[in-house]
Amino acid sequence: MSEFKHLYDDFKPEHYQIYLDINRETKRFEGKVTVTGEAFATDLAFHQKDLAITAVVVNGQTVAFSLDEDEETVNFQISAPSKLTVAFTYSAALTDNMTGIYPSYYEVCGVKKQLVGTQFETHFARQAFPAIDEPAAKATFDLSVKFDEQDGELIVSNMPEISNENGIHTFETTVKMSAYLLAFVLGDLQSKLGQTKNGTKVGVFATKAHKPQALDFPLDIAIRVIEFYESYFNVAYPLPHSWHIGLPDFSAGAMENWGCITYREVALLADPDNSTLATRQYVALVIAHELAHQWFGDLVTMQWWDDLWLNESFANMMEYVAIDSIEPNWHIWEQFSTAEATMALNRDAIDGVQSVHVAVNHPDEINTLFDGAIVYAKGARLMVMLRKWLGDTDFSAGLHTYFDKHQYGNTVGRDLWEALSKTSGRDVSAFMTSWIDQPGYPVLSVSVEKDTLVLRQQQFFTGEGVDKQRLWQIPLNSNWTGLPDVLSKAEVRLPNFAKLSAENGDKPLLFNAQNAAHYLVKYSTDLNEKIVSKIDSFDHITKVQLIQSALKLAEGGLSDYADLVELLATFDNESSNVVNTAMTQALNALKIFVDESSESEKNFKTFVGNLFEKQYKRLGWDKIAGESFNDEQLRALPISWEIYAENADALTQSSALFAKHKADIHSIPADSRPLVLKNEITENETADLVRQYFEAYAKTTDQKFQRELNLAVSSTKKMATVDYILSQYRKTALIKPQDLRFWFASLIRREFSQAKAFKWLTENWEWVQEKLGGDMASGDFIEFIGNVFDTADKLNEFTKFTDSFKDEPAFKRLIEMAKTEITSKIALLGAQKEKVQIALSSEIENVPKKV
Ligand SMILES: [Zn+2]
Repeated sequence: MSEFKHLYDDFKPEHYQIYLDINRETKRFEGKVTVTGEAFATDLAFHQKDLAITAVVVNGQTVAFSLDEDEETVNFQISAPSKLTVAFTYSAALTDNMTGIYPSYYEVCGVKKQLVGTQFETHFARQAFPAIDEPAAKATFDLSVKFDEQDGELIVSNMPEISNENGIHTFETTVKMSAYLLAFVLGDLQSKLGQTKNGTKVGVFATKAHKPQALDFPLDIAIRVIEFYESYFNVAYPLPHSWHIGLPDFSAGAMENWGCITYREVALLADPDNSTLATRQYVALVIAHELAHQWFGDLVTMQWWDDLWLNESFANMMEYVAIDSIEPNWHIWEQFSTAEATMALNRDAIDGVQSVHVAVNHPDEINTLFDGAIVYAKGARLMVMLRKWLGDTDFSAGLHTYFDKHQYGNTVGRDLWEALSKTSGRDVSAFMTSWIDQPGYPVLSVSVEKDTLVLRQQQFFTGEGVDKQRLWQIPLNSNWTGLPDVLSKAEVRLPNFAKLSAENGDKPLLFNAQNAAHYLVKYSTDLNEKIVSKIDSFDHITKVQLIQSALKLAEGGLSDYADLVELLATFDNESSNVVNTAMTQALNALKIFVDESSESEKNFKTFVGNLFEKQYKRLGWDKIAGESFNDEQLRALPISWEIYAENADALTQSSALFAKHKADIHSIPADSRPLVLKNEITENETADLVRQYFEAYAKTTDQKFQRELNLAVSSTKKMATVDYILSQYRKTALIKPQDLRFWFASLIRREFSQAKAFKWLTENWEWVQEKLGGDMASGDFIEFIGNVFDTADKLNEFTKFTDSFKDEPAFKRLIEMAKTEITSKIALLGAQKEKVQIALSSEIENVPKKV
């Protein structure tokens, strides 16, 4: 850390006066920025990137300056440390890689249009104006913007507009905040406005390419979520308004700019006439996530990026707390177990993974922190674990104390633990440090040896892993009384098991209730048999947990895949959506042992066909009036597995539905649309059909529909179509660079198209870097390959491809982890393939033949 220089040490900004003049036509902008603050050195540096600076004026005197491209700074000298004013004059280009100030492209009724928006997190404010671009450097901002304004266009920002003189829009001075949270969006926007009970104005903005009604759902959610947080945190929303803006071009999901949240359109808008419950839930969760940041992240901000988890882990948990409170019938916590928990358990089991809290210095390293599985999913799981351990009352009281003490300031993890310890009287730091600072997670082994209950912990790995004897503070959360609260040693032995069991009514012994803590449990065979015998009596989350554990333990070599197959077979009439989702995740994992068009695939199809048939028959294809949220959401899963299993009725119904909507395929009911579109390609592909899908893709403004078309056409069985698809990847007017990773994922993960997709990437890597290199998404391509490559030859190819950039900070860890993952998969296939196939074929022999 010693080598790394924080500019904030030498200059503490207090106020920025920013004037920008933006021209979409020439794709350039001019800027004048005056910064007041205090200097603590005579050699000063401000962050800047790709700015053509023409003048630096200190306290009214022009000074000489130089630019440092590697450090991304403008450097100049002053005579003595003091309070001062620095003014910069410059111009720069509007970049096309979705960072800094950038255009978004779209069409309305055949007319090409542009919005201009901003993305300054993590360190892109420096592409818009010279700044101390570090989260600790909080200041107030006065923003004025002029642009090539057309009739009816508008501009929104963090604060309300206070004047518009000669086309110069000026906004109210912001509260004290980090530069990465400043934002504005300008262009031809429509809006829907409302307000909270406390008078905060809330607005949703989008281009006019969308139906106005698509803005209603997000507006309603945003208002109710703000009201929920105000009561939960007991801290008022700090700004006059809360704007939510959908941008056609957006790399991440959304960005928590204070009072001016920006979104990928698919994460904000919901078609009122034809959207799935899952779509609306996703939108609600994203809004709740970004709104949590308005307090946690914006009002109180991490000191430096190593504590990014403070922001993200927290927001990723709070989104579920908020949505569960405002929409209790969605049972959104059940989905936490199949979404966040699954992601965290998968990635965090690979040796070489980073811890939640991790040191970062180089700006390129900062981007690799935004690992969805670790900082978001695992971090959120750890927060859930902590909240359960403390209880909700002490947890929310601790948050109030934290916001109260640190508002408009910066913190490190320790500050949060202190606040929570104060309200709960428990040592939060001692409990959490083992989880936040260590990579990986433990498996708790439970067995009975001579009437003694033995609990042991050890780090869990899928594939090779170096056991460093790490220990965690494991909250046992057992359904039995008389057991310790936390296991912190490697082993604990508890005598008189039989007596303990009797005292607990001899019910099956379970740990990690509600799947609320980040560990797996491996029960000894006798204990496990008792659990499985009572499986019907358990709640949904426990069932999910048992399926999830059986899969992970098999992947980690701690149990047999046959146990997993046997367990899955017991769920052949399971009506819960989340349990079916967990089954689906396990079945998808089993697919790697099944070869395309082989006897083993036939057996596998029979197995899944039997598993889902009862629910398929119960739910049918059409929504039933008055049905539960569970059933509405479940329906697509049995349909999709029955199509996969080539159930004749499912295939016929799918084709009939397609035929009925052939003239307007967007009108296929949203729940089954992805399945029907895909099935039509796998069963009835023609050149016309492929053309129709691409035309629909180009025309629609519904990004979810675009994703479905991408997945459908990428399921082709024709190599010529694969070639055609690849030939479209660089047509950015058709496939937006933000969506290229989905297109790539859908071809690389299929054995059929994998080699071609990989070849495309190796030949176009430079171009991909140019289009996506600046933002947080470029590592995804590496991760996708790590997820699917499974032979020594492929590992070789991957090593060759990544050799030239394997030491770059942005890629180093991702490449190493991908290699570990591929190596593990090769070993797993070698050891288990035959056993899995035997387990599957013996399972289908046990099912009575249909007549
Ligand atoms: Zn976030």
